[in-house]
Amino acid sequence: MDTQMLIGSGFEAGTETAETILNPRTGETILDLPEASAAQIEAAVAAAEKAFVKWSRTTPAERSGYLLKIADRIEAEAHDFAALEALNCGKPINAVTNDEIPAIVDCYRFFAGAVRCVPGNAAGEYMPGFTSMVRRDPIGIVASIAPWNYPLMMMAWKLAPAVGGGNTVVFKPSEQTPLTALKMAKILADVLPEGVVNVVLGRGDSVGNALINHPKVNMISITGDVATGKKVLQAAAKSVKRTHLELGGKAPVIVFDDADIGAVVEGLRAFGYYNAGQDCTAACRIYAGAKVYDKFVADLSSAVSTIAYGGADDTKNEIGPLISKRQRERVSSFVERASELSHIEITTGGKPGEGNGFFYQPTVVAGALQSDEIVRREVFGPVVSVTRFTEVEEAVTWANDSDYGLASSVWTADVSRAMATAARLQYGCTWINTHFMLVNEMPHGGLKQSGYGKDMSLYALEDYTAVRHVMVKHG
Ligand code: NAD
Repeated sequence: MDTQMLIGSGFEAGTETAETILNPRTGETILDLPEASAAQIEAAVAAAEKAFVKWSRTTPAERSGYLLKIADRIEAEAHDFAALEALNCGKPINAVTNDEIPAIVDCYRFFAGAVRCVPGNAAGEYMPGFTSMVRRDPIGIVASIAPWNYPLMMMAWKLAPAVGGGNTVVFKPSEQTPLTALKMAKILADVLPEGVVNVVLGRGDSVGNALINHPKVNMISITGDVATGKKVLQAAAKSVKRTHLELGGKAPVIVFDDADIGAVVEGLRAFGYYNAGQDCTAACRIYAGAKVYDKFVADLSSAVSTIAYGGADDTKNEIGPLISKRQRERVSSFVERASELSHIEITTGGKPGEGNGFFYQPTVVAGALQSDEIVRREVFGPVVSVTRFTEVEEAVTWANDSDYGLASSVWTADVSRAMATAARLQYGCTWINTHFMLVNEMPHGGLKQSGYGKDMSLYALEDYTAVRHVMVKHG
């Protein structure tokens, strides 16, 4: 197992406090990994600064070639990457192998192509005697900070557009899930010139804090909690750094009376509980039309009670445990508080799983009201609430009545109603008769407190590059 950080072209262990990395399926220790010291963080930023001089002047075709090589290497080692991610996050092996790894490889390949065809304004004479043109240039050193729910995928979403755009990076994985980032470090050191990507380990309030406050860091890219995003903004204000924020979510799902309830149930059984609900787009806040409400709750509860988890044969498991004991306690406390309300019924699940792993039963919380905490706050666990609505207006108002604005979906047989409703939802993404589907060509990002950075798509390349005007005087 790779355990060392990448600083410049060298591999070294951190020298500060060790973090215990756990296997969430069993609660057992995998290993202890010490975090980076202030001097090691300094060295990583210095390596990125040095590398920027040449890397920022490479051609898009050159950078594209590097990204393609990275994609090929991940693909060649897909099996090992999947096993390591499954070990560190507790994800079912089939989910990582079949869903995540191909999308990660495709992310690097997408940006390898995209970086060669960034669209721009036409150059022209906007003032007589002068030619103006718009350039898109790299920003500089990017501090990239990732969460624990999709460690290798978040690394891809952050590195591919940043490096493809000509920037250099100091990357910090979550202190809970650093293993695949350390394996990636080996590939990055083999493929990329020295210092283009550096990988440092550590906790948020120590290493993360040092990175976001570092005067030489030009941009901070972070996926994490809203509270963490606010700290990033405060740090960025001191030296006016560019920020790319992907924060939490609480996705509303509007199920109209005319929806195909069988399809909705099948969809939400998957999209509400994938990755044990530790997904900022999880279909977790359902508004069901009054005419279908009872049937929908009964059918969803029955379907959710069949979700396979915690079995000895991991190839049969559909979801894994939560990432930590702490996260499970957090999820548990949300459900306990909800269940104390007389209007709420826990129709399936509602308890921690058995054994030492951090499992939680897939849960449906029926009868929830718009004002309930379970409807308003991000649970980040396998817990879905269902609220009854009677008027379209009510459903749309409630769906938008949230601090978050990342993802949403509308389920109906009526295309006009679907389009009219989608147009009114204040979310970065609205799916119709599906949920959760992401493609590298399309942007992923939020509104409101979900942040404003766009991952994937050409919009991510825009986020990681600066628009500049160059003007030439004739004669
Ligand atoms: P978190 O905010 O606790 O941690 C995210 C990362 O930020 C970690 O690497 C952590 O070490 C670092 N960090 C924490 N405090 C910091 C600080 N003061 N300075 C610098 N870095 C700091 O979030 P998490 O618990 O790892 O992840 C779960 C959260 O991420 C959820 O709220 C979820 O909704 C969100 N998320 C959002 C998206 C999205 O695309 N919008 C995707 C995945 C996860």
